[in-house]
Amino acid sequence: MVNIVVLGGSFGGLTAALELKRLLGQKADVTVVSADDLFVFLPSLPWLIMGWRKPADITLKVTDILTPRGIKFVHSPALEVLPEARQVRTAAGELAYDYLVISTGPQLVFDEIPGLGPDKGHTDCAFTIDHAVKTGQNWKSILENPGLVVVGSAQMVSCFGPSYELAFEMDAELRRRKMRHKVPILYLTSEPYLGHMGVGGIGTSKRFMEDEFATRDIKAIVNQAIDEVTPEEIRLKDGTKIPFKLAMIAPPFKGVPAVAPLGNPRGFIPVDKHYRHTKHQNIFVIGVAMVIAPPEPTPVPVGVPKTGSMTIKMAKVAAATIFAEIQGSTLPTPEELAVICLMDMGNTAALMKAWPLLPPRQDSYTRKGIWAKGLKHSFERYFLFKMKHGFSHWP
Ligand SMILES: Cc1cc2nc3c(=O)[nH]c(=O)nc-3n(C[C@H](O)[C@H](O)[C@H](O)COP(=O)(O)OP(=O)(O)OC[C@H]3O[C@@H](n4cnc5c(N)ncnc54)[C@H](O)[C@@H]3O)c2cc1C
Repeated sequence: MVNIVVLGGSFGGLTAALELKRLLGQKADVTVVSADDLFVFLPSLPWLIMGWRKPADITLKVTDILTPRGIKFVHSPALEVLPEARQVRTAAGELAYDYLVISTGPQLVFDEIPGLGPDKGHTDCAFTIDHAVKTGQNWKSILENPGLVVVGSAQMVSCFGPSYELAFEMDAELRRRKMRHKVPILYLTSEPYLGHMGVGGIGTSKRFMEDEFATRDIKAIVNQAIDEVTPEEIRLKDGTKIPFKLAMIAPPFKGVPAVAPLGNPRGFIPVDKHYRHTKHQNIFVIGVAMVIAPPEPTPVPVGVPKTGSMTIKMAKVAAATIFAEIQGSTLPTPEELAVICLMDMGNTAALMKAWPLLPPRQDSYTRKGIWAKGLKHSFERYFLFKMKHGFSHWP
């Protein structure tokens, strides 16, 4: 019996665990270790903030997914990985492994910018369900008591889509309520230009975002790092001070402390084309936890996003590789990663595709239409259904 431990109970961790159990059956003992016992469909958090979803609409219990498939679940954070001993130390005890799959996502490091964040600082955030619930309450206050809203991303962020979505959704909702003129919206970002998104743009995304921002009267400040945030204003490194009533700022990303020693100085872990750790051959790293070098240096550092669909692809390759190795068969040939992103815009949506992930590319475009909004809604329902029933092999 092969002992496989998977760290993380989200897009990557659940897909890898389900795939491993599906492929290996009784040959493997698969255990998922996760800090959270809920799977959250993170792409719907902007809708939750806007009041268009409730937490129950977009969450599943991890045990409901794993237990029927014979996968064990340890609801406890991993504290440390001991590669030489092939052990993971968790708050609930030690676990031995033959193979380890890491999909622990990002550590949101609000502390790198004084005054940032919803817990100890003065800004809101869309990246966890608890933070999104709080941001939603603050958004309601803006509707009752209007004022300047700042939406955007600090330095070292590697997920820009949700901030664009929120800027567009807020604009659309305010227009629906006939109060857009009372709420100025400012998009503040570390990206060198609008539509860069950490990947050097996606087709015409620069012009697309500039046109949409102009049409919707959303002001933008690009290429900026935040020095600190006070209760009244955001202070940028170049000395600019931005007053705000509500600020929803994505924080810098790092790898989570338990696995960071396996990675680069920011804790993101280097892997080969099968998502295998470059040094430890029985450790696989997928999703936000692994490192992808940026396509170009930017004046303010930004990270390359690892989207949900990319993470699922990585999980499938890692599982297929472990399976092939155990069976003694040929390793799979991984496909190039692509960005496929359905960006909600409140009253419409856009499909953004870039293949391969980084330039130069064979195929890349940004296209807008109400059909993309329909696709986004369908994708949410489809993905939650697929996860709930453990159909990890579905596309
Ligand atoms: C607001 C938002 C909107 C998004 N929209 C889209 C979109 O529209 N399309 C798209 O493709 N992608 C989108 N993404 C990106 C997508 O959600 C991520 O690519 C995906 O969640 C990455 O999965 P992951 O498994 O790497 O990490 P995560 O989903 O971050 O999960 C990490 C898991 O690890 C667990 N964990 C953390 N630390 C530990 C520890 N020490 N021990 C054990 N477990 C631990 C966590 O509890 C969690 O279960 C969005 C992300 C956000 C935040």
